[in-house]
Amino acid sequence: MSETIYVVIDHTNGEIRNASWETLVLGQRMAAQSGFELHALILGDDPGPVAEQVGRKQLDSVIAVADPKLRSYEPDSHCAALSQVLAEDAPHILLMAHIYQNIDLAPKLAAAIGTGLLTDCIDYRWEGGGFTFVRQVFRNKIDAEIRIRSRHPWLVTVQSGAFNSDDLEDGSAPPASRVVDLASVQVRRESLETIEGMKGGVDLTKADIIVGVGRGIKKEENLQLIHDLAEALGAEIGASRPVVDNGWLERERQIGSSGQNVQPKLYVACGISGAIQHIVGMKGAQCIVAINSDPNAPIFNIANYGIVGDLLEIAPVLTRKIRELKS
Ligand code: FAD
Repeated sequence: MSETIYVVIDHTNGEIRNASWETLVLGQRMAAQSGFELHALILGDDPGPVAEQVGRKQLDSVIAVADPKLRSYEPDSHCAALSQVLAEDAPHILLMAHIYQNIDLAPKLAAAIGTGLLTDCIDYRWEGGGFTFVRQVFRNKIDAEIRIRSRHPWLVTVQSGAFNSDDLEDGSAPPASRVVDLASVQVRRESLETIEGMKGGVDLTKADIIVGVGRGIKKEENLQLIHDLAEALGAEIGASRPVVDNGWLERERQIGSSGQNVQPKLYVACGISGAIQHIVGMKGAQCIVAINSDPNAPIFNIANYGIVGDLLEIAPVLTRKIRELKS
């Protein structure tokens, strides 16, 4: 086992998943604090262009693993490729983003190589020469500190939004490669087509400004106030789960643990209490403004600016003021 941290970088059609960039932020912090080396692993049939992008970040190397069987995600070939690289390189820890693909892959990989797996981590501590990880339990009500006791490499998946990809340190990492032999790997599953869920809809992950609306809006007819505010700000509209469950807004606008993870420059939380399942999806916002009639609402704990009062009165005033300022 060497003192190295590996981070798997996931990508689709040459585009790196933001959750992987966030995971790399964690890797950079862990490496800086522990003095361990940090290496990125990129799997694909032609991982070069992605490796080039990752090589502009602060890392010790970017390792490309190329094979036609790694063209798109498929568990047998990806598990076999990673198993071979890990057996050869024996890193201390392998970090992966906690995205659907890795929720599928990580347990299979842990079982294949016989090591410990910790999922959905949100933080870590370095003390006494060892890493302890933090993950939420009991419906995110408690933060548990967990130390893995298996042999290395430990596998750790990292919650989307737990780190901010804007915090990535730039650098220049030398390219490297590993050869894997996947000839005997029996591929038992084939992806026929990738269908984009957001096609024709809204992709909140790319929005700079989001007005989030919660149960405090009281009834569907009042949503017009939110539409007006969003229009004045040039914002997209997001929602807490009750608003979506009521059928007042589309499911793709739900933000939180069972919705989207967003990182806008500005998030205006209107009548949202700040339940952890919502916060986990928007805490990466650069600036959070909260409007809530309850001064003790948990949303104020993470808000940069708070307005205590009735949303139904405040939203129209804000809209008017913004329009005045813009005109
Ligand atoms: P509430 O908690 O009811 O809060 C409404 C707020 O509005 C209150 O703070 C109140 O003070 C304020 N208010 C009331 N009237 C006014 C007014 N006139 N003016 C100003 N403020 C007012 N939730 C999500 O959002 N996203 C998820 O992805 C998600 N996933 C979940 C997954 C699981 C497994 C579970 C169990 C729950 C999940 N939830 C999710 C639900 C979550 O636990 C909360 O119930 C939800 O976020 C609360 O939504 P809210 O803040 O709109 O409503």
